[in-house]
Amino acid sequence: MITHQVELESTGVGTSCNLTLRTFGPPSGRKALYIQAALHAAEVPGLLVLQHFLAMLAELEESDRLLHRVTVATWANPIGMAQHLMGHLTGRFDLGGTGNFDRNFCDVRSEIGATFGTAEQRIPSTTELKSWLSNAALKFDSSLDPVHVLKRQLLAIGFEHDAVLDLHCDKTAMMHIYSSWDYQERAAALAQCMGAPILILEDEAGGGTFDQAFRDAWRKIKSLGISRDPAIGFAAVVELRGQRDVSDELAVADAAGLVDFLRSEGIARTDTSVSAGPAPAIVALNAIEHVAAPSAGVIAWKAACGQHVTRGAVIAEIAACDSEVPGRRTPIHASASGTLIARAHISLVTPGQRVAMIGGNEALPDRQSGKLLHD
Ligand SMILES: [Zn+2]
Repeated sequence: MITHQVELESTGVGTSCNLTLRTFGPPSGRKALYIQAALHAAEVPGLLVLQHFLAMLAELEESDRLLHRVTVATWANPIGMAQHLMGHLTGRFDLGGTGNFDRNFCDVRSEIGATFGTAEQRIPSTTELKSWLSNAALKFDSSLDPVHVLKRQLLAIGFEHDAVLDLHCDKTAMMHIYSSWDYQERAAALAQCMGAPILILEDEAGGGTFDQAFRDAWRKIKSLGISRDPAIGFAAVVELRGQRDVSDELAVADAAGLVDFLRSEGIARTDTSVSAGPAPAIVALNAIEHVAAPSAGVIAWKAACGQHVTRGAVIAEIAACDSEVPGRRTPIHASASGTLIARAHISLVTPGQRVAMIGGNEALPDRQSGKLLHD
């Protein structure tokens, strides 16, 4: 195992920030996987999962069962982890004003087109391409804003690898995974290894998330015929249930799921497979319905995450608390039939607040490719 510290731009006088990367496996390993956690800094389940995963990787390496390289960033967002507001770790949006920590990663597709788009261009090796992409991310712009520097650095590290996994979590949720249609089979294997019942797929989600920026670059390279290596360019986001689902029991099982994914990718040799569970249900991202609260009040849930709901069913009620008729409630109806994947975790809601996410079977007319992610 090799430990590497990446110094980041300081966020202020007397403050230093870094990423800690731990790389396992033989340097000559042809494949390489990168995993990070808590890019949304308050989504902490992945931080504990990676602690258990590191111990499992060390065991695999010691017993010569790690065939290729795996790099773990034990945390992805030290800037966000330090941003508490009135005693609360916010984590999703930068308090410094740059927005959502997992949006607007650099899009290097036009640089790829300008550099490799000519017919006389020599075809670079995969190693050369990875190095070029990593440099392109680092030099994408000259902003010294610490969050911009962090995003360039994370993507540059990702580009040094063939595939990336980004560990997040939802508010209150069942485990689910986001990836793309062009890697459906590998994404389904990941979901099965992790025991995730839902796999959400889309090629053009938009928003410039970390995984999308990585995937877009490789899709562009492949569209130009520069690389046809099917192993390269896979990216997925694992939503490790809800923010409160943090325990050693869950983390050990999830880390074992990641090791099983290494086995399915041919990165590690393991004695057993834990992926005995059923294949995930596949949901198109444009069939994901976000349900908004119709009024303010305290939300009382009538449906659990993982439950199938039918269109029009009451999934929750809102108690206004100031109603002239005590006990009068406003129902929240499911706006589509499907699986209730995620719910709000704060029980006092405001009108228009997104409080539930339902994965249905049909594309929804108001969902547009390239604009499929809410902030
Ligand atoms: Zn997240």
